[in-house]
Amino acid sequence: MLDRPAALVTYQAYIDGKWVDAKSGKTFQSNDPYTGEPWALIPECDTADVNRAVEAAARAFETGPWPRMTPTVRGKVMRRIAELTDKYAERLAQIEVRDNGKLISEMAAQTKYMSEWFYYYGGLADKIQGAVVPVDRPDHFNYILKEPVGVCAFITPWNSPLMLTAWKLAPALAAGCTVVIKPSEFTSASLLEFMKLVIEESGLPPGVVNVVTGYGAVTGEPLVTHPKVAKVAFTGGSVTGARVNELAAKTFKKVSLELGGKSPNIVFDDCVLDDAVSGAVSGIFAATGQTCIAGSRLLLQESIHDQFVEKLVAMAKTARLGDPSKSDTQVGPVTTPAQYQKILSYIEIAKGEGAKCVLGGGPATREDGGGKYFVKPTIFTDVSNKMRIAQEEVFGPVLSVIKFKDQDEAIQIANDIAYGLGAGVWTQSLKRAHTMAGRIKAGTVWVNTYRAVSFMMPFGGYKASGLGRENGAEAIEGYLHSKSVWINNGSGGGNPFIMKTAS
Ligand code: NAD
Repeated sequence: MLDRPAALVTYQAYIDGKWVDAKSGKTFQSNDPYTGEPWALIPECDTADVNRAVEAAARAFETGPWPRMTPTVRGKVMRRIAELTDKYAERLAQIEVRDNGKLISEMAAQTKYMSEWFYYYGGLADKIQGAVVPVDRPDHFNYILKEPVGVCAFITPWNSPLMLTAWKLAPALAAGCTVVIKPSEFTSASLLEFMKLVIEESGLPPGVVNVVTGYGAVTGEPLVTHPKVAKVAFTGGSVTGARVNELAAKTFKKVSLELGGKSPNIVFDDCVLDDAVSGAVSGIFAATGQTCIAGSRLLLQESIHDQFVEKLVAMAKTARLGDPSKSDTQVGPVTTPAQYQKILSYIEIAKGEGAKCVLGGGPATREDGGGKYFVKPTIFTDVSNKMRIAQEEVFGPVLSVIKFKDQDEAIQIANDIAYGLGAGVWTQSLKRAHTMAGRIKAGTVWVNTYRAVSFMMPFGGYKASGLGRENGAEAIEGYLHSKSVWINNGSGGGNPFIMKTAS
């Protein structure tokens, strides 16, 4: 269990290799979602601090050693970052639990696994290769140079603050970019600890990674609009993502967006029932449902609907609510008071729409094992895919169960949504597994599993779930320009008034 000292911990922003207060001197409080009490003071950075951070990152990029180092040496520094991430994984997990209320059992695994991103992309640093292209012009020698894009701005949400930073930071560093990160105003502490424990100790040159903390409009917008930022990598809600995309477009930045979801978890009658029940529980109640990939629409084939719901309710009913820092807790608090209110309001919307609440359906009090911001694991049946509870992201432990007749109807319902982040399929038919994987419009399809991620597999969304991909070898392309080089080894002759195409 976490030791929760009463005194507030004071943090500073990290700019150009130095710990600094916001220029205005302003701070804001970060709350422990389990106790509901403030535990840390975070600098409230504004445009002045953002400008300082971007200038530092721009200097580090234009004149500093990081982009000029051989990629092999860059890879070695990244391996050091990976080793330090391993070394401090437990400490970082504890900070995340205190700041966002996720379970220690999940966070410990997540922070431990995080080092793999730095090992993997560190290993790729000296495998970023251009190409020689046999262009169809005599006497010309052509090649493609791969170059880092420059200063990158990262904006991250509160639900997995460190992990989602690692997904961006590791490929960006491997490419030779420099970075300014703005974490969520609700969960800044773990990143600041990561900077102290890992980045400072790793020997990364000053200005390569900077952190400014604060609110979206005050800190995020000046960062996204700064003319010296070449790329924005954003993870958060779809409405914010659209705004960030619009702002970044004005100065033609590269943008990647990892946004919301309303993922279908589809169970066919030829599945292994107990596995699918466990997969449905994991899809919606793990992390208190506060994950972008939550399997929040459970599509059940009608022939197994009643039996499945009975088993599902029986399993979900036993979930142990409580202190996220206890290793046997299964469902923790909602991270923010606003999110707590949002979830409760969606429960009322579902009831008003005529969905049938078969489990939970409201706040969980201390007597239920909960506390201030706890919601009971909630299941609605009799949901139609047209209802708001089926179409809108709740981001909480609220499941909508929708019936379907056959495979075609399952696909139609699965795709009839603005989002396209993930999908689960439960079946023992190989043919059906491949058909579903091909026909579902989502960035990830899991068959007979759910919520699996790896640094080696691309991750991202279709439609309102995002633009671009993180993870896997291809993610590094998002941090690179391809430059075409044409060397004429022949004469300079020819008609100067027409384009030089193939002879
Ligand atoms: P959010 O959109 O409210 O905030 C995300 C970040 O954007 C925060 O740092 C916030 O301060 C910043 N921000 C807000 N307004 C801004 C603005 N105008 N300009 C620049 N920055 C601004 O999201 P949240 O509530 O923190 O996180 C939950 C959302 O994130 C959910 O929708 C979830 O699905 C999504 N998410 C997506 C993924 C993914 O990989 N696809 C992963 C995790 C979370």
